[in-house]
Amino acid sequence: MKRILIDMDDVLADASGRFIEYCINRVGKTVTRELLQGSNWAEAVDIHADTVKTWVHEPGFFRGMQVMPDAQEVVKRLMDHYEVFIVSAAIEFPNSLKEKVDWLAEYFPFIDWRYIVLCGHKWMIEADYLIDDHEKNLNTFRGTPILFDAPHNQTLEGYQRVKTWREVERLLLPAPIEA
Ligand SMILES: [Mg+2]
Repeated sequence: MKRILIDMDDVLADASGRFIEYCINRVGKTVTRELLQGSNWAEAVDIHADTVKTWVHEPGFFRGMQVMPDAQEVVKRLMDHYEVFIVSAAIEFPNSLKEKVDWLAEYFPFIDWRYIVLCGHKWMIEADYLIDDHEKNLNTFRGTPILFDAPHNQTLEGYQRVKTWREVERLLLPAPIEA
């Protein structure tokens, strides 16, 4: 069976949406997904970068993320055809570790805990495919990298890009047999 690694933030979990929520709820600023495209988006809406940093270290930030549309159904289907691992470089945010495990248990209860890899980096992990939104993870990967579309990676080129989980399904799974 071929092996697929799947990232969490901005792939399974709507991290960008969580930042938008915090901007509204914490500092009363309306931030759109288009605005999040810039690397200095916080500055653009007059929020101090340090303020944003404190949010990701706050309890509940990761646990409260929404699941991406269709991710649950497609991941479940992938598991019939591939060895699926969830791989998240989470050590930088120690509070996220338990939150990510709990989040996966809620939204992806069919993924056994032995298939969850929370790590500091991903470059030593061998697999056939990696679905990720960050170039720093894709460009060191030795298998086939798949870029998951996110506000911050709009100008990144040179990777197979998927915009939705339905696109992942079309790319990696056989079409369902018509009844
Ligand atoms: Mg990510």
